[in-house]
Amino acid sequence: MSQERYDRQVRIWGTEGQKKINNTKILLVGAGGTGCEIIKNLTLLGFGEIHVVDLDIIEISNLNRQFFFYDDVVGKYKAEVAVEKARILNPNIKLFNYNEKVQNISQDILISCDYYISALDNISARLFLNQKAIELDKPLLDCGTEGFLGHVQVVIPKKTPCLVCQDLWVHPEMNFKCTYAIYPRTPLDCALEARDKFYIEKNRLPDSDNEDDIKILLKLAREHAEKFNIIGIDTEIIKDSLKGTVESIITTNSIIGSVLVNELVKLVLHNSEISEKLELQIINFFQFQGKTETGWTIPLKRNKNCPVCSIDQVKISVDKEIPLIQLVQKLNRQINTFIGLPLLIKNNTIIFREKIHLNDIDSKITKDEYKRLLDLETKSLSDILKESDSILLKDESTGMKFKIKIQYN
Ligand SMILES: [Zn+2]
Repeated sequence: MSQERYDRQVRIWGTEGQKKINNTKILLVGAGGTGCEIIKNLTLLGFGEIHVVDLDIIEISNLNRQFFFYDDVVGKYKAEVAVEKARILNPNIKLFNYNEKVQNISQDILISCDYYISALDNISARLFLNQKAIELDKPLLDCGTEGFLGHVQVVIPKKTPCLVCQDLWVHPEMNFKCTYAIYPRTPLDCALEARDKFYIEKNRLPDSDNEDDIKILLKLAREHAEKFNIIGIDTEIIKDSLKGTVESIITTNSIIGSVLVNELVKLVLHNSEISEKLELQIINFFQFQGKTETGWTIPLKRNKNCPVCSIDQVKISVDKEIPLIQLVQKLNRQINTFIGLPLLIKNNTIIFREKIHLNDIDSKITKDEYKRLLDLETKSLSDILKESDSILLKDESTGMKFKIKIQYN
């Protein structure tokens, strides 16, 4: 491979550093606004192998920022077109595209890649990647943007907090959520926090047409804003925070995509002479607010009770007379992260499966199996589980697995 192409950056990290980059394999999930920026950066820097996963097709509304896509490719797969265009930017790179969900990517590819990047707009794929990163010991770089707001988080398995450690992604119905402000700086940040609090308290999402809901949100947002000396919370801001469609601008995408790949380069060069010489420091969490043009690096702490990266068994104390379905609800609350489709297994036998209630259930479930599982849901625990039994909780939407130990009160 001709190194002349990389001459200007080799002047910074030397041929050894460039070789490390050329030999690095990346799994990138998400080829949207920030994803396009990331693909461009990875390709031009010379990352040797890039696997791009995205199930979406290109829509006209993507064209304001996703610069690999022109009018003539509307309707085609994002991953496919992005990879085609990236090959023009740098023909030395091995590029692969997968027009499907990351949950369907083969284990071989997950194992072969050195780093994972998530540039996603939904929680379940993010948590799937987080789980795999911890399981297979691969550093994960996560990012998200929403309008002027954006973040980058660097997860080094068992060393820095994973995405579940922070409780940032706990609300199942907010699957569209893209980013999160740890320290609010704007009225909208406070309104989003109020939306989350409302969800936790009421166990439902607020309704933007319900005046009582808006009043509660106004109160919650103002309380939160007061703590951070933020003013300007009004009904309009509250209503903005309830919009499901994510706002997106290329400037924020571009900043976040650059910060993320900059962190990746530092990770690749980490523990080398050049890294020490250049005094490179890897961050934990970076938050950007474009309205005030400010960015903060925030040190996060690992959660020693995190069910994904810290403990290998979740203990739960329950009354033995409660029905099985109630145990599932309790587990969801205790684990405190997004569990979309819980599945409980005892001694290789499924004892609970949320998925049976979905219309699109695959035909592999027989009527007898459906009936058996439905009956179990209302049976009391003592009929199904013995004290100190161990069961496995799986989430069929994120692939997360948790070992559960039951104790009766
Ligand atoms: Zn964790």
